[in-house]
Amino acid sequence: MAVFEKRDIFDIIIVGGGLAGLSLANLLAAQNFSTACVDISDPKLAMTTGFDGRTTAISWASRKVLDAANIWNDLIPHANPIDEIQIMDGDSPTLLTFDKEEVDNRNFGWIIENHLIRKALYTQARKTENLTLFAPESVQDFSIGKQHAKAILKNGRVLQAPLIIGADGRNSFTREWMGISTRGWSYKQQAIVCNVVHENPHNNIAIENFREQGPFAVLPMTNDEQGRNRSSVVWTEHAVNKNSSALNYDDTVFNAALNARFPDFYGEVELTGQRFSFPLGLKHAHNYIAPRMALVAEAAHAMHPIAGQGLNMGFRDIAKLADLLIAAREDGVDLGSNALLHSYQSARRMDNMGMMAATDGLNKLFGSRLPGIGMARLLGVRAVSGFAPAKQFFMKQAMGAAGVLPQLLKDAS
Ligand SMILES: Cc1cc2nc3c(=O)[nH]c(=O)nc-3n(C[C@H](O)[C@H](O)[C@H](O)COP(=O)(O)OP(=O)(O)OC[C@H]3O[C@@H](n4cnc5c(N)ncnc54)[C@H](O)[C@@H]3O)c2cc1C
Repeated sequence: MAVFEKRDIFDIIIVGGGLAGLSLANLLAAQNFSTACVDISDPKLAMTTGFDGRTTAISWASRKVLDAANIWNDLIPHANPIDEIQIMDGDSPTLLTFDKEEVDNRNFGWIIENHLIRKALYTQARKTENLTLFAPESVQDFSIGKQHAKAILKNGRVLQAPLIIGADGRNSFTREWMGISTRGWSYKQQAIVCNVVHENPHNNIAIENFREQGPFAVLPMTNDEQGRNRSSVVWTEHAVNKNSSALNYDDTVFNAALNARFPDFYGEVELTGQRFSFPLGLKHAHNYIAPRMALVAEAAHAMHPIAGQGLNMGFRDIAKLADLLIAAREDGVDLGSNALLHSYQSARRMDNMGMMAATDGLNKLFGSRLPGIGMARLLGVRAVSGFAPAKQFFMKQAMGAAGVLPQLLKDAS
């Protein structure tokens, strides 16, 4: 039998230190759980803009998670509020506007650059005594016993805890090891992501323009170091052959295409930095749990980014799991018990399925140019626009304040 040094025994082991895994690790460590987090990527690279040029729309509920992970204060200077959301249908005028005045003057959320969230998470992880980050490092194998689970690292080190959490993304090794299959499909679309500078201020407006190729979103960012107005673009296109993809337009053609898609109030728009592309697909794990193991965020559910809710849903997983772990410790109950794992799964699976169905439906509804669908879309949007409770429902969804909220997020509504 292996002998463990005390430093290799933890309350929780998290595999995957992306935005979800490292947020959970910081949050649990702040709650005095001794936590290990293993990530295959090199933190030095993961903090650069070249690693992931995306921004994330952080909802009020997710802000609570980042606060509980002790990084929200560091992010405030980089977080641009969303005060208004304009929904457009191709080149037609704005169909629907969500204004913060309709929700007690609270903004809908914030846009933050992913690399800055990562940087804040790593910085906090380094300062936190209860948290040990193994990166770059990977897990080679697991072994599950009656009292504990073990993660065997590539460097030969063996970590032990009553619970292992897989947060290792949509191609999760942990999920595969657990023998859990997934259901899903490719959208045959890719999202091109880039940042732009523009002549006029964005006035904290987010644009979602539903075009035949897929949504074209403009998200308001904080100004750059030179004080230039900035926004982030998520441009969805059908997965086309490489040569005709906007990813490979030369800068002049790309800028002209951007200017044609941006509403006039932005003035002149210009690409800044590199373009990134992400293939889009839906993937849902049939199960989130196995003995002494659980999956969170994209390891459990990956969805279309049309509503900017993928990570926000992952943060709801994190908040629920944290609630259950805190309660189990208070009651002196095993942190990896079957009862705890089943409570987690039943609380999270339906909620995630609802959002996956909604994003899938939105993509289909707005991506179709069939005449009947076009009319249904128009009538549907008009109905939402003219019916206050429906509008409130959509706004609460955007803020992450809808549905049954975990205790940790209770006052996010
Ligand atoms: C274009 C686009 C825009 C989006 N915009 C939004 C938005 O506005 N709002 C929102 O809420 N969501 C958004 N999303 C979704 C969001 O980006 C994802 O939900 C989120 O990044 C998933 O985080 P994660 O930590 O689960 O997975 P990942 O970010 O994939 O992290 C997984 C981590 O696990 C590590 N790992 C992988 N394998 C191993 C292994 N074997 N051992 C150890 N470590 C491993 C990786 O290095 C990585 O750090 C968007 C997605 C796309 C594609």
